[in-house]
Amino acid sequence: MIDAMESRKVRFMKKERIAKRLTGMIQQVPALESIFKSADTIETKRRKIKRFLSDMLASTFDDNPTIPPLEWVLARDAIGVFRNILSVRNERLAGFSFLKYVDAFMNRVGITDLPPPSAGFLAEFEHLLRGVAGKTGIYADKVPAFTKQKGRKAAGLRSADLSRMAASADAFMNRYPHGLDQDVIRKRSSHKARILKYFNASEFEWDQWTWQTRHIIRDAETLKKLVTLSDEEYQAVKLARESKIPFGITPYYLSLMDLHSTAGNDSAVRAQVIPTLHYIRTMKQMRDASECSMDFMLEQDTSPIDGITRRYPKIVILKPILTCPQICVYCQRNWEIEDVTSPAAALPKEKLKKAIEWIAATPEISEVLITGGDPLLLSNAKLENLLYRLSRIKHIERIRIGTRTPVTLPQRITDSLVRDINHFHYPGRREIIIVTHFEHPYEITPQALEAVQKFRRSGIEVNNQLVYTFYNSRKFEAVALRHKLRLVGVTPYYTFNTKGKDETDDYRVPIARLLQEQKEEARLMPGTDRTDEIVFNVPGLGKNYLRATQHHDIISILPNGRRVYEFHPWEKQLALANTYVYTDVSIDDYLKRLKRRGENPADYRTIWYYY
Ligand code: SF4
Repeated sequence: MIDAMESRKVRFMKKERIAKRLTGMIQQVPALESIFKSADTIETKRRKIKRFLSDMLASTFDDNPTIPPLEWVLARDAIGVFRNILSVRNERLAGFSFLKYVDAFMNRVGITDLPPPSAGFLAEFEHLLRGVAGKTGIYADKVPAFTKQKGRKAAGLRSADLSRMAASADAFMNRYPHGLDQDVIRKRSSHKARILKYFNASEFEWDQWTWQTRHIIRDAETLKKLVTLSDEEYQAVKLARESKIPFGITPYYLSLMDLHSTAGNDSAVRAQVIPTLHYIRTMKQMRDASECSMDFMLEQDTSPIDGITRRYPKIVILKPILTCPQICVYCQRNWEIEDVTSPAAALPKEKLKKAIEWIAATPEISEVLITGGDPLLLSNAKLENLLYRLSRIKHIERIRIGTRTPVTLPQRITDSLVRDINHFHYPGRREIIIVTHFEHPYEITPQALEAVQKFRRSGIEVNNQLVYTFYNSRKFEAVALRHKLRLVGVTPYYTFNTKGKDETDDYRVPIARLLQEQKEEARLMPGTDRTDEIVFNVPGLGKNYLRATQHHDIISILPNGRRVYEFHPWEKQLALANTYVYTDVSIDDYLKRLKRRGENPADYRTIWYYY
């Protein structure tokens, strides 16, 4: 009894401290403090805060002398966000009232049953207030010297500043090892020799893609014999197998891992295929709960016929096979991807026939993305037959083949495969494009380079879709990847936000980080290195261009520090469609994880001002 009273007292004191902290923060904007502290009703407070923010916005545009240069841009954005989260409609959509929550803590009314604000919530609120007040402090006090000069003198000073920026970017990029580095090549060659010895196989066999797929590593015991595993990695793989959650690694991809992962150079490679325990446990729970749909992308709601997904007017996705040589942990199709060697993975012949007939009977479609799964797991004959049937359809002008084999199984890209695909590439009439999926410069090896070059030499373009996860999101890490991709002949095409349900939390990165990466890192590179678009693939709707801020809004910030976004459909202004409400991961949690990885959070400090 005494214990219960004690813990209530501790909770009360903690909440008291939080209330004081909130008051301290809000004092940065005295007008807001007096509104919150007044005896007005919540609706009057809402009206007054909105009016105050409108006045602030107007004065910001009126050359407010109290706001330093460029801070006005950040103030404008922060005011917009604050106004959004005060909206009654947005409160309904988010299922949470930020205003009532802050008000309760500020006035210590009814807080006993409320969850206390997390560190992430407090950090969000503090940065929002700084933004509104024009006091982010992210700009240096001194204006750059070149702005005070003209002509050559100005150009010389500016050039020196730009060189400093470039040198700093290079210093970051040089931290990330790549697979074309001679030391890495040497290390991997001895690792490969160990794997070959284990399987009692020859170099010749290693180069056969069918040998690779026959020797996919599918259990924790074998894996443990070939690379050092942490306890968690071992347990997660073991549990994955026991729970029938797809798992597998090609011997080639295994050779890209470091024998002992002490330096963490291979973290991104390992994270691609070795799940976390959290992932496996959550997947298991979700699968066991029959009422919980795993179809996060609402593929079933956009599939007019088996094997086809349609989200856009002129493009369809055709899925002839639902497996890959190895399964990416965060795969958005994790609910339907079959086990790597499952015979049930191929779309039955009759269904494939019907899917192709459906495309033939839909003249508006001009482009087919063949994906799955990985269509290059089909035999040459099957793939050629599929391409042949699609090429007979007059209105199909482009066929994209989505495949990760250049990364996980480059042996698959044989001369005969390229010839079989190239038949159907007919400039002026029909184009074939390969869309691949490199995640890290550590995956760019001489073998991957050769696989890409085979397509390029035959005139076929190779594009990359990067999924931006925690494991490739350090400062300039994606830049290092895009830069190397261009050098091996791959064009950066899309950078996808990682999403999913709770199971992929370990992989997810706040949307603000994607925006920051584009603005502060990618932007420093030549245009040819940054040809990709950052997108959020909205379930059931399709891609939302994150850079276009008019296509999404922050509608709330939850007590656990997660922002809630509303994404607009791509076809708004053309047709009516639903919006999509999404809860992001917390920026504060993300920064703490980066810190545990050895990153300096100060290098990411502007992240709070991206919405
Ligand atoms: S390659 Fe693509 S389809 Fe296959 S597991 Fe990875 S993300 Fe999923």
